Amino acid sequence: MQTTIKSPVSFAGIGLHTGHPVRATLRPAAAEYGIWFRRADLSDVDTLIAARWDSVDPMDRCTRLSNASGVSVSTVEHVMAALAGCGIHNAIVDVDGPELPVLDGSAAGFVSAIVARGLRKLDAPVRVLRIVKPVEVREGEGWARLDPADSLEIDFTIDFPDEAIGRQQKRLDMANGAFVRELCAARTFGRLSDVEMLRANGLARGGSLDNAIVVDGGRVLNPGGLRHEDEPVRHKMLDALGDLSLAGAPLIGRYTGHRAGHALTNRLLHAVFAQPGATRMETCDADMARRLPGMGVRRADVPVLARAA
Ligand SMILES: [Zn+2]
Repeated sequence: MQTTIKSPVSFAGIGLHTGHPVRATLRPAAAEYGIWFRRADLSDVDTLIAARWDSVDPMDRCTRLSNASGVSVSTVEHVMAALAGCGIHNAIVDVDGPELPVLDGSAAGFVSAIVARGLRKLDAPVRVLRIVKPVEVREGEGWARLDPADSLEIDFTIDFPDEAIGRQQKRLDMANGAFVRELCAARTFGRLSDVEMLRANGLARGGSLDNAIVVDGGRVLNPGGLRHEDEPVRHKMLDALGDLSLAGAPLIGRYTGHRAGHALTNRLLHAVFAQPGATRMETCDADMARRLPGMGVRRADVPVLARAA
């Protein structure tokens, strides 16, 4: 069955790009509504923005969605990953600014609140998008592809010259709460030289060691160190789940990302929908429902550091 969140929940924080305070409220929605963002700070304009692959403005550092009136919302990928990873199919996300709050740079805050509120079942079956033909996109040394599989798997490789990151590879089946247990607390990361460059250009004004891992060569600058030895690649998998959830229905297939980013994963979705017969819409039976991300998530799966009171 499709689901929504049982009751509204708000998140206050700062925007990574502006550094300004921003508040987001996740609200329940009816069956077949899907996921929509709404700019609560604007009026006299269409403030609803669809969380869909064809609403994405290509950007490298985050995922920005916009509507036909040019109204946009940035940094949607972590809340999208949380919704997909907790198995929420319908919701509206009110935001009173141009970007989502960054929280601690992971999806743990969103996940923890969603799991604490609980899910409401709706009277409509889940439809999934099954990948039936391989599709691949490349750019420079990066590539991303989708292959047929029996559940959503994410396989990601990153390769950075910095010793503190290096080459990391991880593959995970998203069934049975794996996202919540293994990925949701992984924080975004950057290199000190990039952070300095962004700052010099007036970007990432809200970025700090409170909401990102920062590395310099072989050193992790955050006083508490890493949450997982391979936290960076886990975060890339989190981003990939969020970006893939913009397909509009849960995907059944294996995603492989090699040095891929938000823009490349979005290009992959464009390529999937441009190729006739690459996907098939299926109504989920009980067996397939058990293999969806978000099925079987328990409160005990939420990482302790993020558990809501
Ligand atoms: Zn991210």
